[in-house]
Amino acid sequence: MNFYMPTKIIVENGSVAKNTSLFATYGKKCLVVTGKSSAKLCGALDDVISALEKNNITYKIFDKVTQNPLISTCIEGGNSARDFGAEFVVGIGGGSPLDAAKAMAVFATNDIDEEGLYSSKWDNDPLPTIAVGTTAGTGSEVTQIGVITDSNGRKRSFRADVSFPVIAFGDTNYTKCMPDKVMRSTAIDALSHCIESYFSNNSTDISRAHAVLGAKNIVKVFKEIVDGKDLDDDMRTLVYEGSIHGGIAISITGTSFCHALGYFLSEDHGVAHGTACGMYLPEFVRYNTENAKELADKLFAEIDVDRDTLCDIINKVMPEVDINVSEAEKDEVAERWINAACLKKMYGNPTSELLDSIVRKIV
Ligand code: NAP
Ligand code: ZN
Repeated sequence: MNFYMPTKIIVENGSVAKNTSLFATYGKKCLVVTGKSSAKLCGALDDVISALEKNNITYKIFDKVTQNPLISTCIEGGNSARDFGAEFVVGIGGGSPLDAAKAMAVFATNDIDEEGLYSSKWDNDPLPTIAVGTTAGTGSEVTQIGVITDSNGRKRSFRADVSFPVIAFGDTNYTKCMPDKVMRSTAIDALSHCIESYFSNNSTDISRAHAVLGAKNIVKVFKEIVDGKDLDDDMRTLVYEGSIHGGIAISITGTSFCHALGYFLSEDHGVAHGTACGMYLPEFVRYNTENAKELADKLFAEIDVDRDTLCDIINKVMPEVDINVSEAEKDEVAERWINAACLKKMYGNPTSELLDSIVRKIV
């Protein structure tokens, strides 16, 4: 067994307000990292500020993080943390502010350029990062991964044990103000993490257990959504906890082709991350049903749906996508699958041509 999960995970209503003293553990000065408006809108920012003030912690708010966060923003935030003398970072948001907070924590303590960040090897440990989740999708609250758009506009990751958040706070009340489209997209991302991780040949018993728990939660809710039920508190909790299980699973295995093939749709066509992955998820399920049949049958039994029902549910929950990808662009992006790391983690004998044909079939 080989398992590392150093993040303290607290998911309950009022998780921040009930645990304010934990913030004092990490110092007296903190950089708070958010997107433009949702942290305020959902109440998480107020809860964090009140926890910091209760502990006499001075803070600076950095609220410039956009979706698919830019490396330039992370360098700016890192400099800001350093100039302010921040001893820790609190990220509030979906995956974008959380990943950006992890990157800023690295830039704050290391004099490096962007390639230095992606190398995932740094002289100094990053500042400790507390993650407060406001979407129910990426599981970034519990991963050592940061996905940051480089100066060429490409989504690239860093991954280091020292980048696991020290605490993950989850409160499904924060997720209530997500627009329906964001909720669906982020939940599909969470399901994609569970399924991609489950079918990775890097899986362990622990990662698969989390992947199954997460997929069970999310598929149960998706069935209810497809039946026309509005999301209630229990359903939100199932999806949020599902996203945490998915995060733990990919912290062990990484993701697979849904993510690899989805990136250019976010980079060049503005498709939301979860939706981009979800476009390939039914193909991923079909591929593995053929190439990892025993595992697939076990998963379908656990989540109580067969392959076609699962694919149908995914397609019904998916937000609509209206994009036009030219043949020239498909030719260009195909180059990116040639050395795709996910090929080595898949069952069967996948080739870059297979990935290319899937892209051409889907978009
Ligand atoms: P996001 O990009 O963080 O946010 C998407 C949109 O939702 C933003 O407009 C945001 O507004 C809004 N939003 C967030 N929480 C909300 C709430 N509670 N109510 C209303 N609106 C809300 O979305 P995400 O899907 O969570 O994150 C995607 C990013 O995470 C991608 O860059 C992806 O590559 C990365 N990712 C990371 C990991 C990992 O392990 N590190 C795993 C998977 C994906 P504001 O801009 O105002 O905040
Ligand atoms: Zn994802």
